[in-house]
Amino acid sequence: MTSAVLPDYVPVPDASLGPALNENGYYVGRVERNLFWVTDGTYQSAFLATRDGVVLFDAPPTIGHNLRRAVDEVAAREGVTNTVTHLVYSHHHADHAGAAGLFDDGVVRVGHAETRRLLLRDDDPNRPAPQVTFGDTYTLRVGGERAELAFHGPNHSPDNIYVHFPDHDALMLVDVVNAGWVPIYNLNLSEDVPGYLAAPERATAYPWKHFIGGHLGRLGTRDDLVLHQQYIEDIVDNARAALASVDPTPYFRKYGANAWAGVAGYLDAVTERAAAPVIAKYTGVLAAADVAAFTTSTTFTILQSMRLDLGAGSQIHP
Ligand SMILES: [Zn+2]
Repeated sequence: MTSAVLPDYVPVPDASLGPALNENGYYVGRVERNLFWVTDGTYQSAFLATRDGVVLFDAPPTIGHNLRRAVDEVAAREGVTNTVTHLVYSHHHADHAGAAGLFDDGVVRVGHAETRRLLLRDDDPNRPAPQVTFGDTYTLRVGGERAELAFHGPNHSPDNIYVHFPDHDALMLVDVVNAGWVPIYNLNLSEDVPGYLAAPERATAYPWKHFIGGHLGRLGTRDDLVLHQQYIEDIVDNARAALASVDPTPYFRKYGANAWAGVAGYLDAVTERAAAPVIAKYTGVLAAADVAAFTTSTTFTILQSMRLDLGAGSQIHP
């Protein structure tokens, strides 16, 4: 038995929580008209219940077979077919797509061309590659409804797309903004940092009222994107100030020939100085802001992008 003392955190703000789950462990709710969303409290999926079939957007394995239950429940209530005819991948990651294999071979799978390439590479039977792919934009029309899929460059992943529902006042963009919560480790484990940082502004350029972010227990609003952007901007501002104010000399002097120890000491000091005021400011505002490893690792990721992508602090030897 371990006797480790687990850390305590401030309570999750009420505004960050969503509706209660049912006895099967999910909640399904109407976004608008016949667009619905499903959550298990941590992950989110969505579907259009049209007269000609159900269009599913993402299939997180944590929701798993509850996707079928949610679709059946809604289809029965709305008096439409419960046949899932289309499945759209937001991106290739297994935590959002790993239950795709639960749906019939007859389903039409739609995704970005890069999603297809990555899924063929990953060769995971739970995530069959999409047969219908696109490069820039694709209008999916099923049963008199439409979803506008668009790729605006890599962000969280190399293939993450925007799904706009113009007739439902909604936008789905997964793994960028966690409504009411901070991003998890390393900027939500994002691969293209400048792309990730620019994504919320692209999202707000679309007209919508409801935001489906793929995570946690409630839908997002435009205010959630503003708050997320403020959190990120504060990290960027503090990172820039820390880069300008932390003196690397003591670290390199102490570690001498062990250059990597000097680098680690210096970068850790810059990261700590930049993250501390952000953690203090957002604790109690964004849930899990005080889970220090999240804000600290996100700050580290942004700092490295400032160095490596933007050239901040880069000096040419005289
Ligand atoms: Zn992802």
